[in-house]
Amino acid sequence: GATLGVMGGGQLGRMFVHAAQSLGYFTAVLDADPVSPAGLVAQYHVQTGYQDEQGLAQLMQRCQAITTEFENVPAGALRTLGAQRPVAPSGDAVAVCQDRALEKAHFVRCGVPCAPHALIEDEAGLAAIDAAALLPGILKTARLGYDGKGQVRVRSADELAAAWRDLGGVACVLERMLPLALELSVVVARNAHGEVVTLPVQQNLHRDGILAVTQVPAPDATPAQSAQAVACAARIAAELGYVGVLCVEFFVLADGTLVANEMAPRPHNSGHWSIDGADISQFELQVRTLTGLPLIAPRQHSPSVMLNLLGDLWFDAAGQLREPDWAGVLALPGVHLHLYGKTDARVGRKMGHLTVTAATAEQAREVALQVCARLGLAAC
Ligand code: ATP
Ligand code: MG
Ligand code: MG
Repeated sequence: GATLGVMGGGQLGRMFVHAAQSLGYFTAVLDADPVSPAGLVAQYHVQTGYQDEQGLAQLMQRCQAITTEFENVPAGALRTLGAQRPVAPSGDAVAVCQDRALEKAHFVRCGVPCAPHALIEDEAGLAAIDAAALLPGILKTARLGYDGKGQVRVRSADELAAAWRDLGGVACVLERMLPLALELSVVVARNAHGEVVTLPVQQNLHRDGILAVTQVPAPDATPAQSAQAVACAARIAAELGYVGVLCVEFFVLADGTLVANEMAPRPHNSGHWSIDGADISQFELQVRTLTGLPLIAPRQHSPSVMLNLLGDLWFDAAGQLREPDWAGVLALPGVHLHLYGKTDARVGRKMGHLTVTAATAEQAREVALQVCARLGLAAC
């Protein structure tokens, strides 16, 4: 059998490995961590950093095709691999997603609205900011931010200057703070022939900058907003010449306008429900686009509510480590528990997720509320 490689050993890689194995592939994971979630379940584990020449050579030797599960794998490493093996997504496409300034320029090029913003690379850029247009705003590092890390909310020019220096004076994007009515995301898969399929629009709730809950169908999106989000995501992928799975995050503003926030060149936390609620998951779509297997539209067979399980749940009120009451939630109907094999729980760390599927959205929500009560999660 052929072997598929993945750069990165996190939970997204683990779920890619599961999907690849179901379709009969062997898998190889490159990650320096000896006990990474994906490395633990793959047939081969190349235990080096992303830029290690020998590690990359080993991965190429093992694998017929290679993907990534981590958006900050150096684009150069993907280009190195791509010179000798099919690599999807490409280093060039990933490079755009790694930099908020390039990402926003791509949205603009596609005619997809995004927040008013400006790039700040140095003191001159800081001084040139149009405060009336961009404040209050959110200052975000152009590179390497995730889960709300590397972001500061600023109200005045003084706060902006202090925040930019606190972030280390690195390249940042200042975005105007927008009045959000809701947050949506769309997972799109595109193959080398330019065929595109999407998962249904997902509605996301964040807590402290981290995704907490995803509901599909999106209860509060209008049909027009959903159609626009899907069309924008497809255009963003096509204009990048993208091959693989891409997720685009959107905001719906108080006045109903849709704007793109950011994109991820890989399956996305908000698409995890598709493992249990759709007949083709986002990870199987990743396998299909990587290998050239037929790309057909996934069908959602069950309304779904996905709850993230953060490390916080592993600590009781006194701060003592404890195992959450899995038996309690697995006694409820339609609960699909996914734990990532991480042993060191930390507050805010993504340890797993669970998806509730049901015959109706109301029932899925009802059971999700019971799950929240049993685990001591904030109600969704
Ligand atoms: P992720 O983990 O999704 O990659 P991230 O750290 O890259 O997150 P963003 O998605 O840019 O961060 O922002 C995190 C959250 O902050 C958003 O989901 C949204 O709730 C809020 N947010 C970001 N930008 C804006 C904005 N311009 N106006 C209002 N709220 C915003
Ligand atoms: Mg992000
Ligand atoms: Mg985000």
